[in-house]
Amino acid sequence: MENSNANIVICGAGIAGLAAAYVLSSRGFDGILLVDKGAPLSLTSDKSTEAYRNWWPGPDGAMLALMNRSIDLLERLALDNNNVFHLNRRGYAYVTANPEQISSFKLIAERAADQGAGPLRVHKGLADDPPYSPHHVSSFIDQPDGCDLILDPLLIQEHFPYLSENTIALLHTRRCGWFSAHQLGMLFLEKATQQGVSFINADVEGITLANNAVDNIHLRKNGSLSTVSTKLFINAAGPHALKICEMIGISAPIFCEKHLKVSIKDIENAVARDAPLLIWNDPQFIAWDEGERQMLSESDADRILLAELPSGAHLRPEGGAESQNILMLWPYHLEPVQPTFPVTIPLSYPEVVLRGLVTMVPGLQSYVERMPKPFIDGGYYTKTPENRLLAGPLPVKGAYILGALSGYGLMAACAAAELLAAHIAQTELPWYAPAFMLSRYDDPNYLRTFEEWEHSDRL
Ligand SMILES: Cc1cc2nc3c(=O)[nH]c(=O)nc-3n(C[C@H](O)[C@H](O)[C@H](O)COP(=O)(O)OP(=O)(O)OC[C@H]3O[C@@H](n4cnc5c(N)ncnc54)[C@H](O)[C@@H]3O)c2cc1C
Repeated sequence: MENSNANIVICGAGIAGLAAAYVLSSRGFDGILLVDKGAPLSLTSDKSTEAYRNWWPGPDGAMLALMNRSIDLLERLALDNNNVFHLNRRGYAYVTANPEQISSFKLIAERAADQGAGPLRVHKGLADDPPYSPHHVSSFIDQPDGCDLILDPLLIQEHFPYLSENTIALLHTRRCGWFSAHQLGMLFLEKATQQGVSFINADVEGITLANNAVDNIHLRKNGSLSTVSTKLFINAAGPHALKICEMIGISAPIFCEKHLKVSIKDIENAVARDAPLLIWNDPQFIAWDEGERQMLSESDADRILLAELPSGAHLRPEGGAESQNILMLWPYHLEPVQPTFPVTIPLSYPEVVLRGLVTMVPGLQSYVERMPKPFIDGGYYTKTPENRLLAGPLPVKGAYILGALSGYGLMAACAAAELLAAHIAQTELPWYAPAFMLSRYDDPNYLRTFEEWEHSDRL
């Protein structure tokens, strides 16, 4: 490889790097070089559940505003490109069997409504209830926003007959759904390439600075080294973002959590193919038998499975009407880890997830005795302590980050890349920009806001 120059070097061709390349080239930036040691989208961005939501009640409305903007952009992209990435808007259904959850559903929904998620409609089975409008299977057009809190058991049974009869409330959040991450990413790549972006398969091994400014990026490809001279570098390295920060002498509060997902064929049609994303909102104990309890108690790694496990087991149908696949996830045990590849998968994961989901969808019970062959994959959520992404400048001239996209990088990519591009182009920033800059950690007011905020976004 020969030494070369670029106006902008982007490290990482996951969804973050691809979105950045697309947005920057659309804004007229040229000489963009996208570098990835692997194939585009192959590290984390092809492992996701591909879901999106504008459901981000928080201490301020910054996440919700960013996500609403991202969904606006996703919808516009879908409309302009014949919906090649299959954006739907089936919603998320948060399901509970605990009467105490009802007031917390209401509180969260009211807060989300105040912050711009759309109105709350409560359905109690009374004559003056607002009408409940069921979701469309595939269209995102002319669908309601906000949420429907359904407390009427007949209405729940009518629209979600596969749910446990213990269900007493269901919060159907509406500006939510899923899409094909691969097709969205390839759309970004195709458009970026048409707009002059070059892609190179190489490892970013080092970065040299001159007067605390980006100067040279050192690449390794098939054992040979080369240098790209540039004044502008974007760290979109996903789970390796911290390592890249360290190359330029920056520390950032970024850590990784392992998240896995299982896919099986739902051969008994336990879940309707038109279901939304279904989330069991209650913590639960798994009903192990005596022999299983004994075995689990003898293993340091598995003993936690005997304790109460957190809320958040979730699933959704995958593929079109002809498919029988369902995706199942349950992040029941999370801790910061060093990202290593390939991701290791505990043998017990598929069974634990399945057992957790049986509580919500009893029709899955037959798979506990005889599970269809599971396909398991996963990756890392790259996170900041308060689970907010980073999009903006780093404290080295010419260095930027688009990272820490956690479990929402696909849904946030459009708005996060737009935000990054506004920083780079020095154009007007949206009001929520400071909430996504690394410099927020220097702001005591910002830190105080989060001290009291108990958030439990596991999805
Ligand atoms: C199980 C699971 C479920 C998820 N579900 C959802 C969901 O439903 N909705 C959603 O929006 N998000 C979801 N996510 C999160 C989403 O997948 C991530 O936020 C997103 O993919 C992160 O994208 P990225 O571009 O930052 O990182 P990556 O996709 O990891 O891309 C980073 C790239 O940088 C490259 N790179 C790193 N270091 C170097 C180097 N030194 N030199 C060259 N290249 C380098 C890597 O090879 C990689 O290709 C999920 C994630 C997981 C794991």
